[in-house]
Amino acid sequence: MEMSLSWGGEKMAKREVDDRFRKFGTVSFTAITKTNDFISYLEKGKVMGTKCKDCGAAYFPPRSDCSKCLQSNMEWFEVSGTGRLLSFSELKYGPVGFEEDLPYTIALLDYGDYKVFGRISKDIAYGDLDVGMELKTEFTTLPNGQLSYVFKRP
Ligand SMILES: [Zn+2]
Repeated sequence: MEMSLSWGGEKMAKREVDDRFRKFGTVSFTAITKTNDFISYLEKGKVMGTKCKDCGAAYFPPRSDCSKCLQSNMEWFEVSGTGRLLSFSELKYGPVGFEEDLPYTIALLDYGDYKVFGRISKDIAYGDLDVGMELKTEFTTLPNGQLSYVFKRP
């Protein structure tokens, strides 16, 4: 079911979404089906990806189907240890719901078998970031109350 609301000239679409995704608030994750447990794990402070039981391919964000061997035999694993900083960029404009937190830095960590896209913790200055440095992924709660994760010094 989908309905449109008009309010003061602005048109808003209201959709039925899994309530757990609202707590996370990142649009890109809403396209993933069958992986809503990601949010349940976040509520317990765990950042999780999925791994194919058949070929061992690892995915983050979690996927319910393996694009390498086309099976759907997945298990959860916790993103732990450190990854290498591949790239980073300072964001001065963010998606709706993230504005109060700007500016922040988004980054990509290489864990070898998989990569994690996310944001750098505020306790690391932008000028201290270097491609190749080791960072860890840690659960956090954003200022607006949404569950998320950040990259921190190990
Ligand atoms: Zn596979």
